[in-house]
Amino acid sequence: MDPVVLDDLLTGLTAKAFARELPSGRELLAVLTTDDDDLLEVVTAASRVRRRFFGRRVKLNYLVNMKSGLCPEDCSYCSQRLGSNAEIMKYSWIGADEATEQARRAIDAGAKRVCLVASGRGRGDRDIERVAETVASIKNGAPAVEVCVCLGLLKDGQAERLREAGADAYNHNLNTSAENYADICSTHTFDERIATVTNAKTAGLSPCSGAIFGMGESNDDIVDVALALRELEPDSVPVNFLIPFAGTPLGERWDLTPQHCLRILAMFRFVFPDVEVRLAGGREIHLRSLQPLALHVANSMFLGDYLTSEGQAGDDDRAMIVDSGFVIEGADEPTLPAHRHDLVIARRRGVGSTAPANT
Ligand code: SF4
Repeated sequence: MDPVVLDDLLTGLTAKAFARELPSGRELLAVLTTDDDDLLEVVTAASRVRRRFFGRRVKLNYLVNMKSGLCPEDCSYCSQRLGSNAEIMKYSWIGADEATEQARRAIDAGAKRVCLVASGRGRGDRDIERVAETVASIKNGAPAVEVCVCLGLLKDGQAERLREAGADAYNHNLNTSAENYADICSTHTFDERIATVTNAKTAGLSPCSGAIFGMGESNDDIVDVALALRELEPDSVPVNFLIPFAGTPLGERWDLTPQHCLRILAMFRFVFPDVEVRLAGGREIHLRSLQPLALHVANSMFLGDYLTSEGQAGDDDRAMIVDSGFVIEGADEPTLPAHRHDLVIARRRGVGSTAPANT
């Protein structure tokens, strides 16, 4: 890109981010189509925004997989989907004690948020009770830890029950653009996903919703899903890169370069300047040796293993954070800047979930 045009683009995006203004789709697309030669300028601009709202802190999150495999849905990217031949562990519900023990070890290793995840379209009320018991058990041993629950589509009353048990957040990703959604899943819709995130938020849970890239989507799709996510006003946004599992329809896809992953992350930082942007699944295999650069853009990451695949060892993650000049966020430090943190508290107290625009 012409250096003057690039400078204008990044100066404009940084100013909008500092003011928490929404960039235009055209500006976001321009970030995604910058040359590899321009990568460091793009990362530098996004890192200024990251430092403004999050300093040098990195929040660590840990996944507890409560039920693995055997899902009736057909999400193409997922190793747990209907008919998947991926070689993963399949098991039905670990108990509250085992989940609490896994959470305790993760908290001791620096995790500030524990995410309880179970495969499936959604859960019946008996399973919600099982997870509610686990949430209460984890919070009992570690009241300061944030517990996020990810159980698929929510039915009436389920978000309220999880909130009552002490859950802080609910994760449900949009994954890709509305236009692309039918290409990756036929058993549920984009609108159902939107409804679940909205229900969780209305019940006082902190909404966590992100996407997966590298599934054949266009740059326009990437911009569209980022803007759709912004409309939901999530508090945290996981950015996943496809882990192509053999035995799934996307098992052969390797579309991403480390440079494009960084452009995607930078674009998300401009859309979500003061929201937790989390490095999630696939960071090791797609960013590879550029992971430390990603920390200059994202302020949060998963520690260790993912749902059905091994991640980088926790010690290596912590060394990478320290070597790159960042610090692990403490349990008593709010992740979000004060204006956003206040909204999370207000939502939990039932003051209402409608946030004024750009706050
Ligand atoms: S993403 Fe969730 S709903 Fe979709 S196949 Fe995997 S476990 Fe099932």
